Amino acid sequence: MKDGDGTRVVRAGLPEPRANEPALPGPAFAAHYHLPGEVSGPYTYGREANPTWTALERALGELESPDGGPGAETVVFPSGMAAISAVLLSFLRPGDTAVLPDDGYQLLPTLRERLEGFGVTVRTAPTAGDAQLAVLDGARLLWIESPSNPGLDVCDIRRLAEEAHHRGALVAVDNTLATPLGQRPLELGADFSVASGTKALTGHGDVLLGYVATSDPGLAAVVRSWRKVAGAIPGPMEAWLAHRSLATLQLRVDRQASTALALAEALSTRPELTGLRHPGLPADPAHEVAVRQMRGGRFGCVVSFVLPDRAHAERFLSSLRLVDEATSFGGVRSAAERRGRWGGDAVPEGFIRFSVGVEDTENVVNDVLTALNAAYHKAS
Ligand SMILES: *Cc1c(COP(=O)(O)O)cnc(C)c1O
Repeated sequence: MKDGDGTRVVRAGLPEPRANEPALPGPAFAAHYHLPGEVSGPYTYGREANPTWTALERALGELESPDGGPGAETVVFPSGMAAISAVLLSFLRPGDTAVLPDDGYQLLPTLRERLEGFGVTVRTAPTAGDAQLAVLDGARLLWIESPSNPGLDVCDIRRLAEEAHHRGALVAVDNTLATPLGQRPLELGADFSVASGTKALTGHGDVLLGYVATSDPGLAAVVRSWRKVAGAIPGPMEAWLAHRSLATLQLRVDRQASTALALAEALSTRPELTGLRHPGLPADPAHEVAVRQMRGGRFGCVVSFVLPDRAHAERFLSSLRLVDEATSFGGVRSAAERRGRWGGDAVPEGFIRFSVGVEDTENVVNDVLTALNAAYHKAS
């Protein structure tokens, strides 16, 4: 019998059990290691390798690996942005063309400016409808974000990857929202699965982390070398906390996904809001593709919707009792924010990005419906 996801996550990356040793060895704090005589072994200097990273990288590699396919090599970074920058800046050269989504993570436009400053041509297209297909000609690298943050659009990763490979382009997928339990980009044909581990992967809102996973050892070596020269390395404590968090990943993402769906269903009966999105909702435009390429009914913890204006959105947020007003998503405590307050995303003033935590489902749904009533009541 095959091990299920819940079984795999509790042991992912752990060393063989050894008498009198802990299951998950503690963080190794070392700027350098004993190195007598000739340079040898994996651990020499702290910027290059660390046994705590190695264990976490093994764990993430196990989770991102295609079923029955080659194992994925993983390189961990101190944040999602460090991981994203590592791929874009180490594989693109002056004169290359990159295709990015125009509705992806809010820092992509800033990264685009950097790339253009280095002589890279950048084209963008929306995630929905596989619109990036239309701008692939001559591209060296295709960057996909599915489901996209915060709009929750989904594209057909396998189809885009095939077309991009046909044109000789590398394909990277930002897998932050889905986590490897919700989606395995390498299995869908991508060259890289890249993610922020700050969100649902570690799930406690107390660690920043990122990683790049790939089945190609040559590509992994390039990313590893980038980490060494950029010095973009995670602290051993963060890496250890992330590894410790993986044991509960399946419990957390399953609870979050089922509560997110329950919340989206409850909201779909409310006429006062518009633009309701959640890939798990059967009526959602992303649902059909999401069901095909995402795993285990895990469509993520984010539900987005639009209230009539900024004032309604602010009243809604301040009326929530169980939900923190905060950015980020994927944590154990539900959180929500008016996304337009940052100014970086093309969203309406009343756009709410809601991140479902692991509280009891009925409590979260009830808190949201009560706050919606309050937001409207106070308006009249
Ligand atoms: C948060 C996020 C990032 C950036 O990750 P950090 O860990 O904050 O650097 C990248 N992509 C997506 C989709 C994100 O949600």
